[in-house]
Amino acid sequence: MKRIYMDHAATTPAHPDVMASMEPYFSERFGNPSSIHSFGREAKKAVDSSRDAVASFIGARSDEVIFTSGGTEADNFALEGIAYANQNRGNHIISTPIEHHAVANSIKTLVKRGFEATFVPVDSDGLVDPDDIRKAITKRTILVSVMHANNEIGTLEPIADIGKICREQEVYFHTDAVQTFGHMPIDVKELNVDLLSASAHKLYGPKGAGMLYIKKGTKIVPYLYGGEQEMGRRASTENVPGIVGFAKAVEVAKGEMKINDSKLVRLRDKLIDGILSMIEDSRLNGHRTKRLSNNVNISIKYIEGESMLLRLDMEGIAVSTGSACSSGSLEPSHVLLSIGLTHDVAHSSLRFTMGRDSTEKEVDRILEVLPKIVKDLRKMSPLNRGNN
Ligand SMILES: *Cc1c(COP(=O)(O)O)cnc(C)c1O
Repeated sequence: MKRIYMDHAATTPAHPDVMASMEPYFSERFGNPSSIHSFGREAKKAVDSSRDAVASFIGARSDEVIFTSGGTEADNFALEGIAYANQNRGNHIISTPIEHHAVANSIKTLVKRGFEATFVPVDSDGLVDPDDIRKAITKRTILVSVMHANNEIGTLEPIADIGKICREQEVYFHTDAVQTFGHMPIDVKELNVDLLSASAHKLYGPKGAGMLYIKKGTKIVPYLYGGEQEMGRRASTENVPGIVGFAKAVEVAKGEMKINDSKLVRLRDKLIDGILSMIEDSRLNGHRTKRLSNNVNISIKYIEGESMLLRLDMEGIAVSTGSACSSGSLEPSHVLLSIGLTHDVAHSSLRFTMGRDSTEKEVDRILEVLPKIVKDLRKMSPLNRGNN
């Protein structure tokens, strides 16, 4: 049985061209970019041209792109780097209750160290109202951080509008664009952002590579201290193969983003409409149209997401749930609670995230298998108020 992978928001398989581009930098071109000799120069050239490619992809200058170990480091760097560099101006940070843990836990740590945070609410679709950001800004505000698209429910946030407000108020603006980078066009100038995070493994690149865009002139302190790599902003020997693979992933994305997008929207909508029409007491989480083209997040009432996940896994279908079962915790997702779901409904959610290789056949298979699983589980479920 061919397995079906519907968890591209968690990670994506490296593209064959990405793997081919990386290979030489493990072997014959293994040099350290800081070395003066030809081996070093070869590696440095590869890092430089990768930086050019990634920067131009988002309308940035090359010296505004800092390579990191991934999205988490980029988020931590943005939040802590701005906070500590601008303490003289204020200690107030504004964000949302639906951020990825890489942002949320950075803020939590900063609050422990004396910073203050305001979390503007989101509506029932997970949308932030830019006006709420405007109202939350005070004289002490130094940074606003709002994600470009939510990784659980797929909702796309009005980043350009929020950025405009931050510009007017002279407050730094960071966006976690890990879920959109390489999947839709991004222009840092149009988005009015000062900082933007991305991660290679979410766009068919390697794990352990990412970047932080830092607008020229932004006051920020480094996150890692050591050598002078990355223009003195991020010490440690560069992950040359990872950086080269990241740039190749960007090049591939540039070529096929548009084609993938229209296919994914079609598959996404087929899956959403199919589930909602075939399964009673199911609901879509996240905005219906302002949403990532590959994201389907559904609550299927009266059954636990984990039970469905395990049954789907037995059928070779890989999805994820709205609760942190992997960490052994029974807490439902902070995102689903923030959009107003009850604990029960939040626990009954499933996330399908498609990718460039997803097919209509796979969607058909899910629509064949899932209703049976739901029927079965509802028969056994003590939560079932539907049919007994
Ligand atoms: C995956 C993800 C991250 C973390 O990126 P890593 O490269 O895995 O550290 C951060 N933010 C969002 C929205 C993500 O989806």
